[in-house]
Amino acid sequence: MTPVLVVLNSGSSSLKFQVLEAGREPACLFKGLFEGFPVNARLTIKDPTGAVVEEARWGGGVKFGHENALMHLVSWLRAHQEGRVLRAIGHRVVHGGEAYGGPVLVDDDVLRELDKLSPLAPLHQPHNLEPIRIVRRRLPDMPQVACFDTAFHRTQPEIATMFALPRDIRERGVRRFGFHGLSYEYIASGLRALHPRLADGKVIVAHLGNGASLCALKAGVSVATTMGFSALDGLPMGTRCGAIDPGAIFYMLREMKLKPEEAERILYNKSGLLGVSGLSNDMRTLRASAAGNAQARCAIDLFVYRIVREAGSLISALGGLDGFVFTGGIGENDPATRAETTAGMSWIGMRLDEAANRAGRPLISSGDGPTILVMPTNEESIIAQQTLSALQTAT
Ligand code: ADP
Repeated sequence: MTPVLVVLNSGSSSLKFQVLEAGREPACLFKGLFEGFPVNARLTIKDPTGAVVEEARWGGGVKFGHENALMHLVSWLRAHQEGRVLRAIGHRVVHGGEAYGGPVLVDDDVLRELDKLSPLAPLHQPHNLEPIRIVRRRLPDMPQVACFDTAFHRTQPEIATMFALPRDIRERGVRRFGFHGLSYEYIASGLRALHPRLADGKVIVAHLGNGASLCALKAGVSVATTMGFSALDGLPMGTRCGAIDPGAIFYMLREMKLKPEEAERILYNKSGLLGVSGLSNDMRTLRASAAGNAQARCAIDLFVYRIVREAGSLISALGGLDGFVFTGGIGENDPATRAETTAGMSWIGMRLDEAANRAGRPLISSGDGPTILVMPTNEESIIAQQTLSALQTAT
């Protein structure tokens, strides 16, 4: 029997998954998405070529949530096993806190520790942990590994993790962590394989998706990143505000009389590209509307302006720049964002090869300034690799 892994990325109303063959370079067999929990749930499963192999809907007032989805997935896998056996489940977990600097095999003690981190990432952590709890209850013998978005940033020098707050506040956990680490780890290992000279140098990786951040890599390890204590900091995102003066939040609470939950909802769910454009959090929609819609144009301009400013700060932290990598849904697919960003960074000698950029080639720089690359990310592949290595360590 060939062992396979399931990798889960669980959100409040969705469950993304991949089924991978458990090898040194885990190969994707299926990828799928349950969305629309709890009253309008639907499922799509595709094979690696993108062909749809399964579709289902649960409408008509039927409640369908994470537990139903997981059990449906397990029976679907049994029906499509063809000589394969499910060996373990790997989970994307946004926060590993100070305790977890790498993947960990989950038991009740680990789950309790991860639960304690939920207040640090209230919109992600509880949803990431829910499937772990369900699997422990329904499939108690199934090994489960938690893989963290924070772990890759453990290499940051202490000064990069500090806020200028009193020591006792830091000792209670208020510090910069950084996120999107699974994506950065994938890109760092891809750089090592494809561009070893660059991998040894000073590189900024721009993970630009619905969530967005930049990471400064020196010789392949994270030395600074734009997200901090929470996944709100740094760049504006699809619906998140990015860096904001904390004084503005006090003003919203005290003078505008917003409740903390209302302010939190605004900053996480109603800001960013959506808030500024008043139209959409989706870059494709904004690009399609920008010519005739000043607010859509403004949202894009602010997004690019903030990337360029934050990149400048990371270049200072690195002491120079050898390469810049675009990844994530926008970074991989939107040549206009790449062109506007690199134009804003021309001061450091960055030159875009316009034709290569439009054609979506992997190498899009010209001249002898920093190398500019487009690299598709693959967080699931890293989760699968980490899951296997945690299993090996445990046995
Ligand atoms: P997540 O952070 O949820 O994984 P993704 O990495 O899938 O998100 O990125 C989603 C973003 O990528 C959306 O803003 C979407 O509009 C953008 N995107 C995807 N394809 C394109 C495209 N062809 N052109 C411009 N933007 C795109």
